[in-house]
Amino acid sequence: MAAQQQRISCEFFPPKTEAGTSKLLNEVAPALNALGPEFFSVTYGAGGSTRDTTLGVVSAIREAGIDVAPHLSFGGDDENAVASLLETYQSRGIRRLVALRGDVPSGTGGAAHMVYASELVEFVRKRSGDHFEIEVAAYPETHPEAKSYDSDIRYLKAKLDAGANSAITQYFYNVEAYFYFLDQCAAIGIDKPIYAGIMPITNFANLQRFSRNSGAEIPRWICQRIEAFGDDQDSIKAFGVEVVTQLCQTLLDSGAPGIHFYTMNQVEPTREIYNNLGL
Ligand code: FAD
Repeated sequence: MAAQQQRISCEFFPPKTEAGTSKLLNEVAPALNALGPEFFSVTYGAGGSTRDTTLGVVSAIREAGIDVAPHLSFGGDDENAVASLLETYQSRGIRRLVALRGDVPSGTGGAAHMVYASELVEFVRKRSGDHFEIEVAAYPETHPEAKSYDSDIRYLKAKLDAGANSAITQYFYNVEAYFYFLDQCAAIGIDKPIYAGIMPITNFANLQRFSRNSGAEIPRWICQRIEAFGDDQDSIKAFGVEVVTQLCQTLLDSGAPGIHFYTMNQVEPTREIYNNLGL
């Protein structure tokens, strides 16, 4: 399959400050849009904590004529609040969603009621019919709370059977984990695309923290190499671009349906990787 036919998308998070939002909308999104991704997506904070900022960023990107997918979860909301948000998105010309269970916001002591993503997919289909193209999350290295590898795949199938169109994976650096996962998904009858989520290496300390929480493994050789660079940020960045370019190239050459970049709201290194791949 030629690389150009494979889907590329990019993810942002809603910035906390006006300056951050302005930079995202006026610099980062236009620069990455120039590369021609199919759409952007915008995350939704745990427990609905970014309801307004996600909506604001999504609306501004859509007004600029760019296809965009808000992430959505029930969080602590009731059905009416989620239905009203769906109507707002629909009225603003949004045609995609990333449907998630989300995580418990820190500080709530785990008391919040968690609604599985499959229930959200069902709810969206019931409320909005086929209006939205729905993506869900998938975990090649297994969701940290999953009872087992197999049950996690069965629940992914449940989300897709409930009406999601495709899935985007948690980031990974072990390419074998992704292709083995695709084989296991196919074996239980999943025939919808599972796009590879890719995290360029920007801030290594943050990446290590995310990885501890999400169960996404950073291979030992990558940690060792980066640690050896010490404070030499230029070398860390160059190494990160090289490793992630190779990962993406292998994915595209081996028939992955596409790549979703977790950009961390930065133009580089996603743009550099894009260019290296000749996309
Ligand atoms: P679910 O699919 O509901 O699964 C959650 C866990 O429950 C899994 O362990 C699963 O095996 C298990 N499970 C599922 N269904 C059942 C069932 N019926 N009975 C028993 N167990 C079940 N988080 C955010 O807060 N905001 C975001 O914007 C965001 N975007 C993301 C985008 C992508 C592409 C990915 C991969 C993750 C994202 N996350 C986001 C993180 C995500 O919210 C967490 O990983 C969360 O813990 C699980 O969400 P989920 O939608 O995968 O949950």
